[in-house]
Amino acid sequence: MSAGESNALALVWFRNDLRLDDNPALQAALDNGYVPIPVYIHAPDEGGDWAPGAASDAWRHRSLAALDAALRERGSHLRHFFGPSLATLQSLIATTGAEAVFWNRRYEPACERRDANIKTTLRQQGVRVESFNAALLFEPWTVRNKQGLPFKVFTPYWKTLLAQWQLGLCIDAPKHLPDSDEGPAGVPLAALKLAPKLGWDRTFWDEWTPGEAGAYAALDAFVDGALRGYRDQRDRPDRIGTSRLSPHLHFGEIAPWRVASVLERERTAGNGADIDAFLRELGWREFAHHLLHHFPETPDRNFDERFNDFAWSKLSQAQLADWQQGRTGVPIVDAGMRELWHTGWMHNRVRMIVASFLTKHLRYHWRHGARWFWDTLVDADLANNTLGWQWVAGTGADAAPYFRVFNPVLQATKFDPDGRYIARWVPELAGLPVPLRFSPWQDPQALRRVAPDYPPQPLVDMGAGRDSALAAYRKLRG
Ligand SMILES: Cc1cc2nc3c(=O)[nH]c(=O)nc-3n(C[C@H](O)[C@H](O)[C@H](O)COP(=O)(O)OP(=O)(O)OC[C@H]3O[C@@H](n4cnc5c(N)ncnc54)[C@H](O)[C@@H]3O)c2cc1C
Repeated sequence: MSAGESNALALVWFRNDLRLDDNPALQAALDNGYVPIPVYIHAPDEGGDWAPGAASDAWRHRSLAALDAALRERGSHLRHFFGPSLATLQSLIATTGAEAVFWNRRYEPACERRDANIKTTLRQQGVRVESFNAALLFEPWTVRNKQGLPFKVFTPYWKTLLAQWQLGLCIDAPKHLPDSDEGPAGVPLAALKLAPKLGWDRTFWDEWTPGEAGAYAALDAFVDGALRGYRDQRDRPDRIGTSRLSPHLHFGEIAPWRVASVLERERTAGNGADIDAFLRELGWREFAHHLLHHFPETPDRNFDERFNDFAWSKLSQAQLADWQQGRTGVPIVDAGMRELWHTGWMHNRVRMIVASFLTKHLRYHWRHGARWFWDTLVDADLANNTLGWQWVAGTGADAAPYFRVFNPVLQATKFDPDGRYIARWVPELAGLPVPLRFSPWQDPQALRRVAPDYPPQPLVDMGAGRDSALAAYRKLRG
């Protein structure tokens, strides 16, 4: 039987495209006359050194459940399997008689290698295989500088992207889907053991609704709320000033072109600057994927190789644990780390502050922070996380220079001026008057009275930490 005839089957391999709206792989199966068999294959080892972290798994569990529910509403359903991916696809092809496999592309280096191998092998075996872009505005290899090389600096990259910018038509989710019971049913979602046993993620779900419906709700809330004033408010962790779309974008629960087209539809004379500022942030996400594709070693190695000789401090596990658990004695840092632990997310401004504190005041290698974020963020994304850490550490492409050391007290004063963010996440300090909340060590008596268990001094003296970071940097340059 072949495509066009009513019962020809195609596997649609869902990965980080957990949605039905604007899903080109699913649509291609339908357009070519196949009955799609939606499959998810659990193969964490195939992410190489960057197997998904615990918070990602917790999110994925719920997102897969939401995808299955959406498929069932339309007459189909999701089948779950264990990897290895190639062997599982081959066995599914053999048992279902599927003639084709469709998927949407991923850009993590280990996934790119795996997918290229799967494509070649299956094609050699006579299976039709097609892959699509569902995750990016522009795929990494479609944007080049005048010399035909990848960009290393954001601004010219973004200008080039804008010159190619064209809002296409997004594909609506199919209203009905044909189903097939050929082949194995797969294992129940619970068998994948993605959901944490101990329930440490309980507090996440007050904040988040994984899945496509949750992504649209977040976009709607942003359009009706924080979009107005986004350009000025996006740096304020004490407000809901950003979209909180990052986990939804990471898991492909919403397409970036869909986000862009919804925003364009909302464009008025009054909100153009806010929309442009937001699209530019999506541009950073694009840039991160561009860099990861062209410089695939950067999740583990300094982009700027001069830093290979940098005198990072010898790691103290105790200090690292204090940073991870929000016990550094620097309130804005502790607030960020506790927000991360409770919600699986941290505001971008605070990500920069905690990362600067770790890599500069404590002078620990950025990979210790990147690993912690990887395990604890619900939006953990190899491209964005690598860019973020290398940017702050000063080791990356188009990075903040190493000598730019964020002063956490000044940052808190500027971006959390009423100390509300600190009071929310480090509630034991809420009883201190506002300026003291930023640097409570300045009044030891008041601190002891209000929060006897809070560290009386920061892990490192602010001035001394900064000076020794700069000294190490000067030595490197020398
Ligand atoms: C040290 C560090 C680590 C980071 N790790 C991650 C990560 O693992 N995953 C992740 O998605 N983002 C990461 N970021 C980027 C950024 O902090 C988050 O994308 C942002 O906070 C998400 O919140 P939002 O969706 O409300 O953002 P909005 O301000 O609403 O932005 C919209 C979208 O643009 C993208 N975006 C925004 N800022 C950035 C940025 N600086 N770099 C790349 N993309 C961006 C995100 O997809 C985001 O959802 C990191 C930043 C730093 C400094």
